[in-house]
Amino acid sequence: AEETLILVKPDGVARGLTGEILRRIEAKGYTITDLRMVRADRELLTAHYAEHEGKPFFEPLVEFMSSGPVVAVRASGHRVIEGFRSLAGATDPTAAAPGTIRGDLGRDWGLNVQQNLVHGSDSTLSAERELGLWFS
Ligand code: ATP
Repeated sequence: AEETLILVKPDGVARGLTGEILRRIEAKGYTITDLRMVRADRELLTAHYAEHEGKPFFEPLVEFMSSGPVVAVRASGHRVIEGFRSLAGATDPTAAAPGTIRGDLGRDWGLNVQQNLVHGSDSTLSAERELGLWFS
């Protein structure tokens, strides 16, 4: 079956939302096949966010993502990549639709980075790459 990498970002872990987020992944019908808590270092985050290197939010993003533990999840299921992105909702939690993880549980905290609770791979290629980084 298709696989994706999901991250519960440091804001989600710090707010005690890990269980709620994992519950939504399972309730949707996807299978969690691996899971680990990680303190991500700069090297891992630079590789993970390579496409954003040089953008104004890159430094704040790396700072935020290394500010506390992250829960990395390997999830599996037919069309799980698209399905999880739909569960997660829009990048900006203020604009994310109610019913989604970001829309129901997230908000703008007035910081220079979007603390939006979760990450999900956006293609089969990035899923393969990202699973290799977080579950090597
Ligand atoms: P993710 O990849 O985390 O699932 P996404 O694909 O919706 O979310 P990307 O465009 O890949 O978002 O950006 C990666 C992350 O960088 C976002 O989830 C958010 O935390 C942060 N980010 C993106 N755009 C901005 C921005 N304009 N200002 C601040 N932070 C941003």
